[in-house]
Amino acid sequence: MSFKSLGLSEPLLKAIGKKGYDTPSPIQAKAIPPVLEGKDVLASAQTGTGKTAGFTLPLLQILSQNPNEKYRPIRALILTPTRELAAQVYANVKEYSEFLNIRSAVIFGGVNQKPQVATIRNGIDVLVATPGRLIDLENQGVLSLKHVEIFVLDEADRMLDMGFLRDIERVMKLMPSKRQNLMFSATFSKDIKKLAYSILNNPVQVEA
Ligand code: AMP
Repeated sequence: MSFKSLGLSEPLLKAIGKKGYDTPSPIQAKAIPPVLEGKDVLASAQTGTGKTAGFTLPLLQILSQNPNEKYRPIRALILTPTRELAAQVYANVKEYSEFLNIRSAVIFGGVNQKPQVATIRNGIDVLVATPGRLIDLENQGVLSLKHVEIFVLDEADRMLDMGFLRDIERVMKLMPSKRQNLMFSATFSKDIKKLAYSILNNPVQVEA
């Protein structure tokens, strides 16, 4: 099994090579093909399984195959529970998109919003965000989620543990209903299944 055989493009293979990865991890091998096909995916994966590349690589490929470099509306939203995770996911997005014409930004609370706002105003394709700051900036009219094509909910179980259910529901209302959804969670309680049911459309289920 190779990254190439999963259908990833040259610019991504180059970035993967630079990271030093030889072979896809199990979650990557299982998640990347259905995501590339445009399907909704429900993935059961802990941190450390390579899940971040599992959603980031195919997401970047989809966006770069059909670029919108003139307007750069936010086309992919990756929602994470904590700022540490947001920063980590963003670092991955930057690395994997090095050889693509894709712009990205990360926003989270607890820091001055000015630099975040400036980056967003320049036009970005991919936004990594924590819920509070995202809703705040949307309320201020700094960003719009009306053109989101791919929505990723990372560490959904931690999201619920941290009390973000209402925020997730609010964010969903800000996006078009026709979009691709990817949800990652380490555990699958009744509440997580309920959330998955409300977000995902006929999802492919994969396990690490
Ligand atoms: P994650 O579960 O996404 O937080 O990734 C865990 C760690 O595994 C990170 O340090 C990644 O850089 C690394 N990693 C991800 N995919 C691979 C791979 N296919 N081969 C080797 N390392 C990887």
